[in-house]
Amino acid sequence: MWGELVSDVARETIGDDERAALADLAFSLGAKYENRAFGDIDAGRQHWREVCEAGLPAISLPATYGGAGEMADLLLVAERLAAGGYPAGKLTISTAIGGAVILRHGTERQKKEWLPAIGDGSLRFCFALTEPGAGSNAAKMSTKATRTANGWRIDGQKTYISAVDDSDVMLVVARDAESGGFSILTLPLPCDQLQMQQVGVMVGVPEKQWTVYFDGVEVPEDALIGQPGQGGRALFDGLNPERLIVAAQAVGIGRWCLAKATEYARQRVVFDVPIGEHQAVQHPLAEALIELEAAWALIERGAAVYESGGSAGLACNMAKVKACDAGLKAADAALQTFGGSGFTDETLMYDRFGYLRLLKSTPVSRELALNHIAVSGLDLPRSY
Ligand SMILES: Cc1cc2nc3c(=O)[nH]c(=O)nc-3n(C[C@H](O)[C@H](O)[C@H](O)COP(=O)(O)OP(=O)(O)OC[C@H]3O[C@@H](n4cnc5c(N)ncnc54)[C@H](O)[C@@H]3O)c2cc1C
Repeated sequence: MWGELVSDVARETIGDDERAALADLAFSLGAKYENRAFGDIDAGRQHWREVCEAGLPAISLPATYGGAGEMADLLLVAERLAAGGYPAGKLTISTAIGGAVILRHGTERQKKEWLPAIGDGSLRFCFALTEPGAGSNAAKMSTKATRTANGWRIDGQKTYISAVDDSDVMLVVARDAESGGFSILTLPLPCDQLQMQQVGVMVGVPEKQWTVYFDGVEVPEDALIGQPGQGGRALFDGLNPERLIVAAQAVGIGRWCLAKATEYARQRVVFDVPIGEHQAVQHPLAEALIELEAAWALIERGAAVYESGGSAGLACNMAKVKACDAGLKAADAALQTFGGSGFTDETLMYDRFGYLRLLKSTPVSRELALNHIAVSGLDLPRSY
């Protein structure tokens, strides 16, 4: 019932039958998998196939490349899938990062080759930015791209890279050996030259994480997206939509948690009344609802700034922080409402809580996002 209410709100806001139908479709695709743990990799793959069959990854790409909409539509889809019960993490890397970087910085040939395949899901991306020695400080990155007679040679190491084993292309951020600036390169997968070691993570995510070792990995000339050493702008044109889509997913998962908790609070009788009659139970849920709505408004604003082509870092970081806080708060309130049953594999509430907690630390940590907001929003001295 709560889900239906949100769909009604979305209908009013978007004021467009097509987008409302899209929202409903995404919600029902998420709901189909709501009983599956986020760490269930088979469920994640099957869900992604269905998301692709429905044409959803194409949503933010221009019609010329087989798409149908813009960033706001993709965010609506991401939020609705998650609110239904199951987000599509691959939208984050393939469509939001890969799609945005190639759309804004690729050559016409690269756009024609890659974008329709991102849109129909036949090309799945992973994204290699984080390094063990640099962490959040990407400026300290040491992975290098060196020009060769036929293209580029990549040397270095990346860690925590999601879904390397379940992707067709890796988007690699490396330092241009000549200029010292960032270059963005595509590496087809699987790649024999790439050494990989799995990182064991203790949170339910629908893909495995890897440390990858580039020891003279060769890629052709046209693997480069944009200009050598000038990929900084392209990188942020990918990271800003990533922040927005993660934010949309956090709001959606938070809404799912809230919907389940309120349903439970109406039914669970202790001390002779439903627990939902107690204000101590109601208030944290009501507060979480306010936070989620506020977060969604920031996400919409972030999308508008991004689409305008303006400097979107401030708006996108604000949306990410607010949404991930709001999602986590909703999951925590929901967990508390469920009492002991919140920790069972039947409700999956702790599974969702864990995932939302992860989003406080990744893909950009709360602290690093706040650092950026302090500098770009308040003109405070740069501390990082
Ligand atoms: C499940 C999972 C999946 C991931 N997938 C990918 C992926 O696909 N691709 C990819 O490239 N990366 C991926 N990552 C990596 C992720 O983006 C990083 O973990 C994250 O950016 C933080 O980097 P770090 O772990 O090195 O933390 P660190 O940079 O070591 O930071 C540790 C802590 O110190 C704080 N800190 C550091 N510097 C400052 C400062 N100046 N001011 C305030 N606080 C500071 C941070 O906020 C953080 O809380 C993934 C990580 C996980 C856990």
